[in-house]
Amino acid sequence: MRKATDDCLLCRVNAAGKTNSHILPRFISTGFLGAKGSPRKGYLLNGENELTAKPKTVQDSPKENYILCEECEAYLSLLETASAASLKFWQDKVAKGDLKIISVHPHLKLVQLDSPDPVIMRLLVYSMFWRVDISSLESFNDYKLDPDLAESLRVSLLEFKALTNADLQANVKAKQLTMHPYATMTAGAFKDETKNVLAAINPGNPASLHVDKFGFYIFKAEKDIAGNFMANFSNVKPGDNQIMVVSEQLWYDVMVKRPLEMAAEQAKRNLVKKS
Ligand SMILES: [Zn+2]
Repeated sequence: MRKATDDCLLCRVNAAGKTNSHILPRFISTGFLGAKGSPRKGYLLNGENELTAKPKTVQDSPKENYILCEECEAYLSLLETASAASLKFWQDKVAKGDLKIISVHPHLKLVQLDSPDPVIMRLLVYSMFWRVDISSLESFNDYKLDPDLAESLRVSLLEFKALTNADLQANVKAKQLTMHPYATMTAGAFKDETKNVLAAINPGNPASLHVDKFGFYIFKAEKDIAGNFMANFSNVKPGDNQIMVVSEQLWYDVMVKRPLEMAAEQAKRNLVKKS
């Protein structure tokens, strides 16, 4: 168990006194729990509890104590605040004509976001993968990124650390971020909004995270994305800020059914390992 006096895992300087740090940004990780006011309950998949009679239910997005200092927590909140509107309300912006949506395939559209700065969105995505990697919550315990990638994410985050929006913007203008290609996927509509999942199952290359209505993929390097079907729809260059919007059916197959199958497969493997 970590203690309040342990070093912050991001800056490694200050004491990690912060309690209840969300591992995944709250603004995108609680929709699947159902509407506010209703009994909020959702499923968390980790490849261990899927075979038991009762899958693990959660009432909030996972939180952990003593991983961050107050400053680093405030910095991650800045990234979240800057990115939240873009991820939550992209459909409203498309409807108003403020954002362009391009059809590339009957099951795939692309939306070019106009905010936040692409570097800030990239830092937010880096922070999610990094937070899941360092988390020792049971749900994320088995999820370990390639150590070089995890350290590069930490160093990149720290390099841009700021405590005010003005300082963050200044860092974005002055500094260069190490590029790890990433892709963001969502759907235009969902068969059942409460059937989405939070899941950290595949820490490979690309590593993936299922965060309610969003799927995130990160590749270690540009060469690793060459030949992948996501290559043209990902964020490879510093100025890229696009999201893939897949059909309701494709979302269900790839982001709901498939993770449930993968988690069940992993749970079986874990059972075999334990027996
Ligand atoms: Zn810190």
